[in-house]
Amino acid sequence: MTQAETITLIGAGLNGPLLALELAKRGFKVKIFERRPDMRCVRVSAGRSINLALSTRGIHALSQAGLWNDMHKIIIPMKGRMMHSASSELTFQPYGKDESEVINSISRANLNIALMDAAEAAGVKIFFQQRCTGIDLKAGALQLRDERSGTDRVVETNVVIGCDGSASAIRNEMLKLNRFNFSQQYLDYGYKELTIPAGPEGKHVLEINALHIWPRGNYMLIALPNVDGTFGCILFLPFEGPDSFDRLSTASDVQNFFHSRFPDAVTLMSDLVNNFFANPTGAMVTVKCSPWHVEGRVLLLGDAAHAIVPFFGQGINCGFEDCTCLLELLDRYGPDWIRIFAELEHARRVNTDAIADLAVENFVEMRDRVADPRFLLRKKVELALEARFPKNFVPKYAMVTFHRIPYSVALSRGIAQERILADLCAGVDRVEDLDWNKADQLIHAELTPLEMAS
Ligand SMILES: Cc1cc2nc3c(=O)[nH]c(=O)nc-3n(C[C@H](O)[C@H](O)[C@H](O)COP(=O)(O)OP(=O)(O)OC[C@H]3O[C@@H](n4cnc5c(N)ncnc54)[C@H](O)[C@@H]3O)c2cc1C
Repeated sequence: MTQAETITLIGAGLNGPLLALELAKRGFKVKIFERRPDMRCVRVSAGRSINLALSTRGIHALSQAGLWNDMHKIIIPMKGRMMHSASSELTFQPYGKDESEVINSISRANLNIALMDAAEAAGVKIFFQQRCTGIDLKAGALQLRDERSGTDRVVETNVVIGCDGSASAIRNEMLKLNRFNFSQQYLDYGYKELTIPAGPEGKHVLEINALHIWPRGNYMLIALPNVDGTFGCILFLPFEGPDSFDRLSTASDVQNFFHSRFPDAVTLMSDLVNNFFANPTGAMVTVKCSPWHVEGRVLLLGDAAHAIVPFFGQGINCGFEDCTCLLELLDRYGPDWIRIFAELEHARRVNTDAIADLAVENFVEMRDRVADPRFLLRKKVELALEARFPKNFVPKYAMVTFHRIPYSVALSRGIAQERILADLCAGVDRVEDLDWNKADQLIHAELTPLEMAS
């Protein structure tokens, strides 16, 4: 396909360069305007979590773009959760039914660089330190500020795709439209990025193939491995209250809090206090809006259209799935942008709303329920049911993470499966004691066979 049309993207974060690369491969001229400096030349904080968990939906999009095979050297597979109790005991809980079901830790910066390199190699032009300050949604005139000189200019555009993240400038303009729906919901929790340095000879000091969690009821610490031997950690804690960021204002507050709550982690965090005060405390927000587009001229994609909280590790997996969907529509219809943008929103919004709700729900599971023996039993029962009824019963976590089953289907089947699990696990302490006849009846009565996308 050869397309002379120029497509303008705002934001060279994660979705922007992936989409740009795929559009360039289809013959479009693609420009990206990015407000930050080029992280390949200047050391900038990639911000918003040192590393990410990539799973099936994200991997599918990267594979379609021909990038996944080369990423093996920059990812670390995580086979399950390693829970650290308050008395430093370890419990491992696998994520999936076997070793093929893993999630992959990747540095946000490495992923961003790989995507920008590939996009540029395909002919995409990325203009750095160019902040979008507004857009005339009728005429397509894009307002840009050069962050170095402070000068403003206007660029004419045909099609603009806002990949500018959860505080999207393009979405801010759309807020001025009649009947634009918008909601944002902040959590009362913040997050802080911290680091566990590598041990001697650059070795990992904790089990490498696991996502480590220190669940503490209404807050938690997590750690994901990096290829350089370090672990990227995130502390999720209420902003206010007895155990909160509000109460951690001095070095000794921080030391005391970590020594009493995370005794095995603190001994590994040699630079804890400096890290704690150098890194900002981030906020977490769910954003829902509609419509995502203005006719065929302007579209919101990824976090700009639907920011979610990070507890299912799906934000970028979901954004990359938006890209997959848009490209399928483009390949089907050609550049009929009005139709593509409308069908994209129709296909995706029900699913992005669903993962937004699942992500909030999963916070409670991670910070609290993973420490509960009844919960761990239910996880084992889920795997046993999946092994016995693989077409009908797939655990909710697996539907979201290891399949491309629509998120809305995962949400609704998850509710039905919860009911079945509660019924089967009542009064049972071991998987061996399950009533398999009852399981067979309940599952076949309530759950039709699943359609699995390849
Ligand atoms: C703590 C935390 C942990 C997370 N963990 C995971 C995880 O494990 N797995 C997962 O899948 N997702 C995770 N996410 C979510 C994931 O980070 C986002 O979904 C993803 O980054 C969204 O990609 P994006 O390209 O839409 O936006 P972003 O990555 O935010 O990129 C937006 C880009 O636009 C640029 N920009 C913004 N405004 C302008 C402007 N006005 N003009 C020009 N450029 C602009 C920004 O500088 C940035 O480069 C996590 C998020 C957080 C906060």
